Amino acid sequence: MATIQQNIDNIRSQIRHAELAAGRERGSVRLLAVSKTKPAQDIAAAYQAGQRHFGESYLQEALSKQRELAGFDITWHFIGPIQSNKTRPIAGHFAWVHSVDRLKIAKRLSEQRPAHLPPLNICLQVNISGEASKSGITLAELPQLLAEVKALPNLRLRGVMAIPEPETDYQRQCHPYRMLYQTVKQLGMSGLDTFSFGMSGDLKAAIAEGSTIVRIGTGIFGVRIY
Ligand SMILES: *Cc1c(COP(=O)(O)O)cnc(C)c1O
Repeated sequence: MATIQQNIDNIRSQIRHAELAAGRERGSVRLLAVSKTKPAQDIAAAYQAGQRHFGESYLQEALSKQRELAGFDITWHFIGPIQSNKTRPIAGHFAWVHSVDRLKIAKRLSEQRPAHLPPLNICLQVNISGEASKSGITLAELPQLLAEVKALPNLRLRGVMAIPEPETDYQRQCHPYRMLYQTVKQLGMSGLDTFSFGMSGDLKAAIAEGSTIVRIGTGIFGVRIY
């Protein structure tokens, strides 16, 4: 079985090749290691391999791993569904939130962001697969929510996140990402520099269509058993 170090080297090389194939600058795509359901020692192994950005989906689990890894220089990203009664610990313990899909949540994160921390980096989650998936706003709703969230004081609106339905055909992987990328670019809004899309199965297509953060779990830590 490949080690976490080998998996990270392999994913980094896939990212580099995809950047090159797309004519993009080397290093323009950040690797976010998605460590949900995996123990703190797996995160420590990835850290040893030079990985610094980690994504978590379940709050209690994430907080407990953060305590275990308190001495590590890790940038934590929250990428899971957000209930409004969980916004305070999210606002206090993460540098990024990728999964904001309503104004109420954004307002609470802004109000609850501790004053001693820099603004919380925010991506809005967009549902680009139509009715099949439940989380995320539609492309049509995106411009208004972007404008509303941009106005909140303790947030730094960075861009969009998407989780499309799994798809094996390359062109079909590309299509929804292209729609989302073009929609955002056409708004011409300043400060939007982040496209959080691409997972273990569609990294190449995502990078071809402008991804700046790929979120990889299985490809680094192996399959999740729960
Ligand atoms: C679990 C998860 C990932 C990682 O998925 P893999 O297929 O394991 O790479 C990426 N993004 C989100 C939002 C996730 O919940």
